[in-house]
Amino acid sequence: MQQSKNIAIVGSGLVGSLLAIYLRKAGHRVTIFDRRPDVRKVEFSGRSINLAMSNRGWNALQRIGLEDEIRKIALPLDKRAMHVNEKPLYFQKYGKEGEAIYSISRGILNRKMIDLAEEAGAVFRFEEKVWDIDLNQAKIYTGTAETTPWTEYKFDLIFGADGAFSRVRHKMQRQSRFNYSQHFIDVAYKELTIPANPDGSHKLDHASFHIWPRGKFMLIAMPNLDGSFTCTLFMPFEGEISFESINTEAKAERFFEEYFPDIKEDIANLKNDFFKNPTSAMVTIKCFPWRYDDKIALIGDSAHAIVPFYGQGMNAGFEDISVLFDKMEEYGDDWDKIFSEYQIARKPNSDAIAELSYRNFVEMSSKTANPKFLLQKKIEKKFAENHPSAWVPLYSRVTFSAHPYAEALKIGDKQEKIMAEVLKIPNIETKWDSVEIEERILELLGEEIPV
Ligand SMILES: Cc1cc2nc3c(=O)[nH]c(=O)nc-3n(C[C@H](O)[C@H](O)[C@H](O)COP(=O)(O)OP(=O)(O)OC[C@H]3O[C@@H](n4cnc5c(N)ncnc54)[C@H](O)[C@@H]3O)c2cc1C
Repeated sequence: MQQSKNIAIVGSGLVGSLLAIYLRKAGHRVTIFDRRPDVRKVEFSGRSINLAMSNRGWNALQRIGLEDEIRKIALPLDKRAMHVNEKPLYFQKYGKEGEAIYSISRGILNRKMIDLAEEAGAVFRFEEKVWDIDLNQAKIYTGTAETTPWTEYKFDLIFGADGAFSRVRHKMQRQSRFNYSQHFIDVAYKELTIPANPDGSHKLDHASFHIWPRGKFMLIAMPNLDGSFTCTLFMPFEGEISFESINTEAKAERFFEEYFPDIKEDIANLKNDFFKNPTSAMVTIKCFPWRYDDKIALIGDSAHAIVPFYGQGMNAGFEDISVLFDKMEEYGDDWDKIFSEYQIARKPNSDAIAELSYRNFVEMSSKTANPKFLLQKKIEKKFAENHPSAWVPLYSRVTFSAHPYAEALKIGDKQEKIMAEVLKIPNIETKWDSVEIEERILELLGEEIPV
């Protein structure tokens, strides 16, 4: 048992609210500040960004007994449904039998987590934006506006779970030797909706993650519990086919007619939503250190914002909490050691998932429709089935395992090199499932391949 501390969490998002539950269960007093109103009281259609929850997220929930409760508001997706123009719809299994990612509405999940944190005894202070922090004293200053008088609070510890544009991190950035980088990609996203059928059923297969890969842009759709799908269109900000160039209703109509004819009629209020819904940017943010002495620590997106193409941002944030608690169990009341070991354990892994997420955009948007890539996946799948301990595909290692992301990146790079060799073998298209190929892969696995 640790000595009970008075702890502030800045941010009641998914990571902040789960962290609050963990800290309460460990016997600490917890106050959470959020600049937003209570999401449970804001009018909400039930639809929002969907997130894919996978093993790392589930592990963190399971550890404090919340897994079953959250599974009730999630839908399992065991495959990709590929909508490639001029080809019949086809499916790609994500993993082995029984492996699935889970579609979950960020809004519904956040409401649930706040309920659970409150039940656990955490105190929420909504509409109290944190404007400043005294890092040495662990004091925070909140208020409704920058110019109105602020309220001062003093704590023993403060966690910055205030997302990609964290105020807590911003204050830490002013310290000497604080490293920081941010990189916006040229691609933006916009949400659209496919409503349920009149009887409440889904218009598309609800056990699939739907992808319409179109090279430089793509549409994805994930199911909601109410029978609808949330679609996300990823497309460059500027250029020939871009959010900038599609600037009239007629152009939007033509764009969907040409590239998404099978789904165009199902997307509700297409022309209206296309112009009404925001065009949002995506950013990778890296920083270090993640802590200030034994008083302040960053967690979740505030420490490592990543682009969403591996579906791992929340999962990585939840895994941060698991690792932090491993360190709390190991080092008791030594918060200096806890924070220092936590950041050392997490930083290489958050850098690795940032890199993998960035690469996955290329894979999802263009490679998933490429015959060579599909052949590679077939070879890998067959080999992995025959040699499950020798070859865990990269996607499975990231999504369905708890092995470190950094290990997944390293092994994934080696696997890519092996597959590049295999694909060079003459007539690989006709003999991809032969013993010869299997033996060659085994041989390559045994070789030292620099990665
Ligand atoms: C399009 C898209 C798709 C995604 N898909 C997936 C997915 O499939 N799987 C996955 O795992 N992840 C996904 N993610 C990532 C995931 O949404 C984030 O990683 C996760 O929400 C981060 O949670 P967080 O609690 O760290 O930060 P946030 O959710 O950003 O929460 C931060 C909170 O802090 C509050 N706050 C900010 N500043 C202040 C302040 N100064 N004072 C008080 N409060 C403040 C905010 O109001 C907010 O409530 C996706 C993200 C996007 C954009």
